[in-house]
Amino acid sequence: MVSRVIPVDPFDLVIFGGTGDLARRKILPGLYRRFLAGQMPDDARIIGAARGEMDDEGFRALVADAVSEFIAEGKRDGETLARFLGHVHYVAVDAKGEAGWTDLARIVRKDVVQAFYFSVAPALFGDLAERLHRHGIAGPEARIVVEKPFGRDLESAKALNATLAEHFSEGQIYRIDHYLGKETVQNLMAVRFANILFEPLWNARHVDHVQITVAETVGVGGRGAYYDRSGAMRDMVQNHLMQLLCLIAMEPPYRFDPDAVRDEKLKVIRALQEVRPDDIVRGQYRGGPKAGGAPSYVEDAEDPASRTESYIAMKVQIANWRWKGTPFYLRTGKKLRARASEIAVVFKEVPHSIFGEEEGWRENVLSIRLQPNEGMTLSVMIKEPGPGGMRLTEVPLDMSFAEALGEDGTDIPDAYERLIMDVIRGNQTLFMRGDEVEAAWAWTDPIIAGWEARGDRPKGYDPGSSGPEDALMLVHRDGRRWREIRE
Ligand code: NAP
Repeated sequence: MVSRVIPVDPFDLVIFGGTGDLARRKILPGLYRRFLAGQMPDDARIIGAARGEMDDEGFRALVADAVSEFIAEGKRDGETLARFLGHVHYVAVDAKGEAGWTDLARIVRKDVVQAFYFSVAPALFGDLAERLHRHGIAGPEARIVVEKPFGRDLESAKALNATLAEHFSEGQIYRIDHYLGKETVQNLMAVRFANILFEPLWNARHVDHVQITVAETVGVGGRGAYYDRSGAMRDMVQNHLMQLLCLIAMEPPYRFDPDAVRDEKLKVIRALQEVRPDDIVRGQYRGGPKAGGAPSYVEDAEDPASRTESYIAMKVQIANWRWKGTPFYLRTGKKLRARASEIAVVFKEVPHSIFGEEEGWRENVLSIRLQPNEGMTLSVMIKEPGPGGMRLTEVPLDMSFAEALGEDGTDIPDAYERLIMDVIRGNQTLFMRGDEVEAAWAWTDPIIAGWEARGDRPKGYDPGSSGPEDALMLVHRDGRRWREIRE
């Protein structure tokens, strides 16, 4: 199946921080792939903007490097790259000073879609918004894209929202959470709301529990000092895991429309119960001989007294009719056994087994894999083939998007490229609204304040493990077990 490409209107996309890590790894290669797919109109322009002094050619060389580093060899050739680079320009601009702004005002067109990607430190968002406005660069339809982290607590998120709101309306602000751009995550909505099969079972009567796992194998080395100010709760749970939880738990929106979808997500966040201290396990990875001499978390964080968590597991309850009594177990961490992200909806047992106490019986599980190998699997019980009586066995009904969408999965658009095209199209469905972000912090803040007030210390765990022992207990004591973390 070849994915359909829907053309977009001509645009000027200004990437503030166009020379930075995110632009190099994700944004620019993503744009190249959209160009390759034929989605970029002839007069679309990508304008890099940062303080570094260089001309268009200098920036094109940087973009060419990024493309050759992050795009598979078979997907690039000199001629295509040269045509792509024809869309690329550069302006030296200082977010905090006046340098470059009149040049930018001269270059950016008013009669095309205008998008400004703030791929810079959040401390610069206010400066950029103010200068775009003061120099008359951003028209009334202009869109701005802002990156995580969106605040570090409710107060700072509110302040950031207020700063942006001085110059841009909510309809112009695209708060990116790249998890929402993943094929599987959107498919979750298609599976739920375009099929009659699941929705009648999608509630506490039939769903025993839900597990959301985002496991990474890397540590925080290199950016330990930055990470230490945030931790797994702020860096992952408040945004990515929360967004996934919302998509699983939300009511059907009346339409697939940005505000209808986001209204339903917001209701879920507001219905989250306070989490009890013994429903939270925080961890820090150890170092030393068992880690092959690799540094521990506190060494990476360069603070021997750090109590910041590199791992968190929690049991979350949603207080509404649909979900009362069905726990959502969330966990995320660094230096774990495998790099794997998965949502598992674990259904209840059949009310009565006509087959007696069957060996091998398993509950139905809908597993939604975000990485690697995006796809969905529904496990169902069937009779083991052949003679020998009625023995049951579990088989997966597998839907691997890589196979369904392209010969090797490389045709699946990356989350960033899809989201950038949504910005150009003016579709905010997969972006977080300001009130959603604030509600998520309003839930997160007291949890963090609680462990800080209690002086809780994170538990140690070995690199390559599945997290602290106590996290196993979190589900074992409810008579359940975590799904294995594996690629
Ligand atoms: P980075 O590598 O440090 O790049 C920062 C960029 O901003 C550079 O292009 C830099 O170029 C430019 N810049 C810095 N000060 C500036 C100023 N005063 N005026 C104009 N441009 C300025 O940062 P990054 O990793 O790309 O991250 C960018 C944003 O994305 C951050 O908000 C980060 O939290 C977020 N983010 C990053 C990742 C990631 O994987 N990297 C993932 C999620 C979110 P000059 O120094 O030449 O000005």
